[in-house]
Amino acid sequence: MINILATLMAIAVAAMVWVQVITINKTAKLQESNFNIIVNRALTDVNDMLVFQETNLFYELDTQNYIPDVPASGGLNLFPKSDPSASLDRLSRSGELSVSYKHKTVKTSNGKFDIRQEKATYSLPSMQSLYNRQSEEQSRQLRFKSFMLLRGEMKVVDRIPPGYLQHELDLELKEKDILLPYKFCVKTTANGKTKMALGDPDYNPAEGTREYHTPIFYDDNSSKPHNLFVYFPGQHAQQIKAISSIVLPSLILTLIIIGIFVFTLQIILRQKKLSQIKNDFINNMTHELKTPISTISLASQMLKDNSLVHSPSTIDHISGVILDESKRLSSQVEKVLQMAVFNEGKLKLKFTEIDLNQIMAQAASNFEIRVITSGGTLETSLLAENPVISGDEVHITNVIFNLLDNAEKYSKEIPKIEISTENRNNWVVVQIRDYGIGISKENLNQIFERFYRIPTGNVHNVKGFGLGLSYVKRIVEEHHGKIKVESTVGKGTKFRIYFPVTNS
Ligand code: ADP
Repeated sequence: MINILATLMAIAVAAMVWVQVITINKTAKLQESNFNIIVNRALTDVNDMLVFQETNLFYELDTQNYIPDVPASGGLNLFPKSDPSASLDRLSRSGELSVSYKHKTVKTSNGKFDIRQEKATYSLPSMQSLYNRQSEEQSRQLRFKSFMLLRGEMKVVDRIPPGYLQHELDLELKEKDILLPYKFCVKTTANGKTKMALGDPDYNPAEGTREYHTPIFYDDNSSKPHNLFVYFPGQHAQQIKAISSIVLPSLILTLIIIGIFVFTLQIILRQKKLSQIKNDFINNMTHELKTPISTISLASQMLKDNSLVHSPSTIDHISGVILDESKRLSSQVEKVLQMAVFNEGKLKLKFTEIDLNQIMAQAASNFEIRVITSGGTLETSLLAENPVISGDEVHITNVIFNLLDNAEKYSKEIPKIEISTENRNNWVVVQIRDYGIGISKENLNQIFERFYRIPTGNVHNVKGFGLGLSYVKRIVEEHHGKIKVESTVGKGTKFRIYFPVTNS
């Protein structure tokens, strides 16, 4: 189930990233084509302005000084297209033209609309003067054509006033919200060769830079066409900047989602591992508790069995077994209880001034019998001159016992243990060293985790709950101390606990 979930989530995240990449790519392309359209539009507008300026120049220079008194766009526009019902009524001899509108919509005082008949009268010049004007118009058009032919032969530098092109480009681009710096030039093609005619002397687009161009004065139909070229040196950087404003937030969001995904997966896997460890723990515990219980029940059955001879020595032996086994049982139960208290965070310590030399000596003398029985040695060297710390005596003693217990449990055939105390700066350092099986580097930082047991550590079929060291660490930290471990596989392990000295 976890694997399926993880795969589905990975596919979903990958698909999301893919969709984002496509969207960003499309946005980038759209932005670029938008920019291209706007720039091309600006260039055509500049050309329109050039043509307009040239036409104006013609009117200024025209010797006849003819200024048309009719609107340039529509001529004599007496019949507005918007009112097709208007019709020519009659043309008066005086040249007066009467136009009647058959109906007209009027808004009345009470707010309603009413359709009324109405007449309007317009004046028109006489037919003769109209004719005169028409022939004048024709000759003016001829003059304009020859003017334009003449201009078409001129060099482009002579046609465009200095600075005018730059000014127009500035205006048109700014109007279209393009504030990027640009370079421009006009190139003229003559006899198959294209030459720069005017513009920025340093006009030289870098490779990969997009050039925009438009023909100018193309109405000339000249054999020497001119083209206006523009490029933006910072266009690429600008595009990257625009895109990064979209990419960056989506990148951050994607990373957050991936982070949460990985974190969730880790939690799930850790929980799975923990539940496995807890199962092992229950199995272990059942085994550890079953042995003393069955021994005690066997011993009590023996006592109850009247067919057996109950000499004082047998009773003494059996009661000894019961006592030993119940002690073992209570110590196991104690351990589990200790851990249960731990879990609920109810650990309450009673701080008093304690002498670590004394505690270590006491622990060593209690433990010695166990080591000596199995033929081993326990060496003590309590050198701390200032061994007093503020701590909880019971828990500190438990800590020392746990470490001594491990040193013996994970020893080789014959246990060899050394314990010592010393002062280092403001610390009392307690060291418990064994020459046992040791711990590999990979396992070293996990041994303090709750329920963790090194699988291969079970050489002597040593039973445990994987709780001892996590308890030790917690107690040491509650005392503002620190615990360090050094170990070499096959050579032994050195646990060192640092407790802060009270009266240094
Ligand atoms: P356990 O109840 O298994 O002893 P601990 O928390 O005390 O639990 O220890 C965790 C694991 O660390 C042990 O299972 C053992 O493999 C390893 N370990 C602890 N102390 C020693 C030691 N002195 N030498 C070698 N291995 C050790």
